[in-house]
Amino acid sequence: MNIMKMMKQAADLQRRMQEKQEALAGRTVEFSSGGGMVTATARGDLTIERIRIDPKVVDPSDVEMLEDLVTAAVAGALSAAREMAAREMAALTNGDGSSRRHEAAVPVRPRAFPMLEPLEPLIRALARLPGIGRRTAERIALRLARERNRATARELAEALRGLDETIRLCSRCGAVTTSAEDPCRICRDPRRDTRLLCVVEDPADIEPIEKSGAFRGRYHALLGKLSPMRGESAGNPRFDDLRRRIAEEGITEVILALNTDIESDATAAFLLELLAPLGVRVTRLAVGLPAGSGIAYSDPVTLSAALRGRQPM
Ligand SMILES: [Zn+2]
Repeated sequence: MNIMKMMKQAADLQRRMQEKQEALAGRTVEFSSGGGMVTATARGDLTIERIRIDPKVVDPSDVEMLEDLVTAAVAGALSAAREMAAREMAALTNGDGSSRRHEAAVPVRPRAFPMLEPLEPLIRALARLPGIGRRTAERIALRLARERNRATARELAEALRGLDETIRLCSRCGAVTTSAEDPCRICRDPRRDTRLLCVVEDPADIEPIEKSGAFRGRYHALLGKLSPMRGESAGNPRFDDLRRRIAEEGITEVILALNTDIESDATAAFLLELLAPLGVRVTRLAVGLPAGSGIAYSDPVTLSAALRGRQPM
């Protein structure tokens, strides 16, 4: 081959590579981490153009996680930019002369960050908990996944295993207890007034009533309530349990400590009808509970006054 021709070709290639370098500097690729929480934009000349951070992920108590996400986004964006540059340069030196036409045809898509994939089962389980959305679930999972938080993760795992293996609802009243203590401590306590039965919707309602110190009887948690709007019938077995307990345990007064919403009112009306033939006194907590709120959120003083001032229904 003619030496002059070769030199001309080399100079040509060099010029085209330089042009390509300049063109690459104007092209960008994006990369997101944490399911889109942090996005980095890199240019083809391997510089970072910008970082975008979802304000929802900014948590002053967890700067470390944000740092992790930014680091991951930047690393991912630079790697994608490097790939893009390598592809363009390879097309240029292939010598087929078609690189210019290729330039626009090679799509560079941001890829999903695989960091969260192994955590997916945990994230999905966490996101089913009340008040925890997908983002919060991701943050909890990421935090638990860190090496220095492994002790917390193990503790949580132990506690959850215990929940499955030993924690029960009392077979009599529905309060939270252990399989070693069923019936629960309250049900077995001989100092309790067995003639008084306080009906609550949820086991969580028992604790605040106990704290008020104004009630010395026992409990019956319904573990649900009637929902006329959803067309639910009175199929709750806890209603039958209640009727049986009144007959068997010598109960003379049933105090309805239900919440103050429409479904609770419907449940109270239903129970009044259900218990009428049993000749038991049915009372309801005095007004004074915040409207629309729950027993579980009431303070002891309010609950104590509501119990003392209970009204016959
Ligand atoms: Zn019990």
